[in-house]
Amino acid sequence: MQDIFRHIDDHNDDAIQSLIDLCRLPTVSAQKRAIAETAEHVAALLRALGFETQVLPKPVLSEAEGREGAQTGGRPSGHPVVYAEARGASPRTLLFYDHYDVQPAEPLDLWSSPPFEPALRDGKLYGRGVSDNKGNIAARLAAIRAWREVRGELPCAIKFCIEGDEEIGSPQMEEFVAEHRELLAADACIWEGGGVTWEGLPQVVLGVKGLLYVQLEVGTVNRDAHSSYGTVLPNAAWRLAWALSTIKGPDERILIDGFFDAVRPPTPEERAAIEAMPREDAETLASFGIKEALLGVRGVDYIARHLFEPTATIDGLSSGYEGEGPKTVLPARAMAKMDFRLVPDQDPHDVLAKLRAHLDRHGFADVRVTDLGGEHPARTPVTDPFVRVMRDAIREAYGAEAVIVPAMAGTGPLYPFIQTLGLPTADCGIGYPDAHIHAPDENIRIEDFRRGTKAIAALLGRFGAS
Ligand SMILES: [Zn+2]
Repeated sequence: MQDIFRHIDDHNDDAIQSLIDLCRLPTVSAQKRAIAETAEHVAALLRALGFETQVLPKPVLSEAEGREGAQTGGRPSGHPVVYAEARGASPRTLLFYDHYDVQPAEPLDLWSSPPFEPALRDGKLYGRGVSDNKGNIAARLAAIRAWREVRGELPCAIKFCIEGDEEIGSPQMEEFVAEHRELLAADACIWEGGGVTWEGLPQVVLGVKGLLYVQLEVGTVNRDAHSSYGTVLPNAAWRLAWALSTIKGPDERILIDGFFDAVRPPTPEERAAIEAMPREDAETLASFGIKEALLGVRGVDYIARHLFEPTATIDGLSSGYEGEGPKTVLPARAMAKMDFRLVPDQDPHDVLAKLRAHLDRHGFADVRVTDLGGEHPARTPVTDPFVRVMRDAIREAYGAEAVIVPAMAGTGPLYPFIQTLGLPTADCGIGYPDAHIHAPDENIRIEDFRRGTKAIAALLGRFGAS
């Protein structure tokens, strides 16, 4: 691998320049900016490396086919997916999942330099998308270029599936994967992100939580009333507060009937993996200005709760008068937004049905529930042979053992890749915890980019031989 690694060192500046060019495109999916240009730009980069490419539309769903009409409302056809494939010495096929869209750059005044004019400072590159996820695309292409220019042939077959609306929830990705299951067939999948821990240890994440997002609304009387009517008129804010209090108790237990039925407890191997993870609970709590986590968990119990437990979170609440000073009013309407982070094998559709049934059973049939979207949880077992290939590649590139994270606490569209395509998935990337993704001053460290590129190059070699 030394010849390939040397090429990566010698061409790192070119790869960074290519990333800068990619990040000059303001591909904000939420604002529908520069979508077609970026898809074409990425496809052209892949063609230059000998890939056959296609820019494929996401399936268009009728309102009736969408989940309660929620996911399809307002955005009937997703942004196009860049698909690419190239053969290699081995028939083994590695699929890369990435996304070419980025988060909005606002608030602009908090950036030290303009978000779409990437700038190098102190060994870091600043700009929207330099980490999430254009930086990973650029590193993957640099690793492939090194193989092409040093050896000619790629060590394994490679496919790319690069979507253009991950940052707005990957609409219709499950349907897209189902529709293109032959095209996307592979032996393993590398996920979009990845990188090193606070201590600089390379990290491999094997799964995601799922999500159900809902809006709860109550309407009681036909208009706000004078609060003296609190004697005889029903108050929407109280109705909603009582309904919410049936969902989770002060002991943090989620009380929806059947909510935990499908929860699969962590395996002994997953438990062992989190025992080997660095303990960062004290730093995290300190950064939020508190001393103790919920339920007093710390160390391994903190990690286990964070990665393996589902949540019920009130994201927003509104009702009645929220301005300055008193206003004696009895609110006619109340609204809450909630998300549930789900773990295998919970299903967002099933949890939605259970929430509805739970509210009905507790006397809250008047609380309207609107489905604002969801994703299934998914995890690759830590015992999968692909995880060993990942470990070996990481050791070769970093000279250090990988920290194996069985699942992250966040959500992503991993499920169709694991479930529909049957692939083991893992991430391997160029990020670090202070990358400010989704925030002002998103950045990468150039050294992380270089080493992350080498890890991908090593992985291609080892995967082809595995
Ligand atoms: Zn993102």
